[in-house]
Amino acid sequence: MEKLDGKLLSAKIKDEVKALSDSYKQTPILAVVTVGDDEASKVYVENKRKACEQCDMSMMHFSYDESTRESEIIKKIKELNKDKSVNGIILQLPIPKKYNTKKILNTIDPKKDVDGLTDISQGKIMGGNSTFVPCTPKGILEIFDYYKIDLEGRHVVVIGRSDLVGKPIMLECINRNATVTMCHSKTKNLEKYTKDADVLIVAVGKKHLIDKTMIKDNAVIIDVGISRIEGKIYGDVNPDVESKASYVTPVPGGVGPMTVAMLLKNTMIAYELQNK
Ligand code: NAP
Repeated sequence: MEKLDGKLLSAKIKDEVKALSDSYKQTPILAVVTVGDDEASKVYVENKRKACEQCDMSMMHFSYDESTRESEIIKKIKELNKDKSVNGIILQLPIPKKYNTKKILNTIDPKKDVDGLTDISQGKIMGGNSTFVPCTPKGILEIFDYYKIDLEGRHVVVIGRSDLVGKPIMLECINRNATVTMCHSKTKNLEKYTKDADVLIVAVGKKHLIDKTMIKDNAVIIDVGISRIEGKIYGDVNPDVESKASYVTPVPGGVGPMTVAMLLKNTMIAYELQNK
């Protein structure tokens, strides 16, 4: 079994992004909008800030509390859309339920949509001509490329159908000529599908949902899930799969660091689109 080392690969990508950023006339700027008080989001935003600093990019953070009116957040995003110095804009999810998340996301100018979550970006993935692939699926594709894991003709099983991870990775795997099965919480007899997967991508958020009895010999296992239990982080996949799989992404140190690196990469794509 070989570990798919997202930490190592993301460090390499960050070096490339830094070199590119240093070659630009202006410092690329990422604007992050947060709403509410989600504890995990605070950690993620801090990680994004550190990553921007490492790559000689700037991050602007606009933080709103839960009493803020939706119109005020939308107004700020419209200002950021117009601001020529801002290259990428993200709305850190989740935000409190009282807001219309889709409406706020769709205010982001698609040319600055570096999380790839506006309807326009998502539609482009469907058409196979994406500009911004959401960062986690993009990170998974980058892992496939780096470790030369070819998907053509292989059976990819995706568990989890979110707009953030499951649906875009399903489409991107189809674009790479895989045969894809999509599973979710209503799937009956999950094992029937996981046991047939050449490549299994798990994005659920349930500690050790998958173990070695549920996978095929030599399967490639991509574990996206993150569960925080008593201060410890667990993936969706039990590490016992390592005795049976050919490749596994560890948690932590697999898909997570790749997600941040892809946000930087998407911001560079945005910079280039806006400055060509
Ligand atoms: P989400 O929107 O909550 O989606 C979870 C999906 O899992 C849903 O489609 C749900 O099915 C499905 N599901 C729930 N229980 C299931 C079960 N017992 N069997 C099969 N499917 C089940 O989550 P998300 O945003 O995609 O994130 C998924 C996980 O990845 C979370 O742990 C999140 O923290 C993590 N994550 C990690 C990164 C990273 O960088 N590593 C990035 C993003 C997300 P239904 O649709 O039927 O409800």
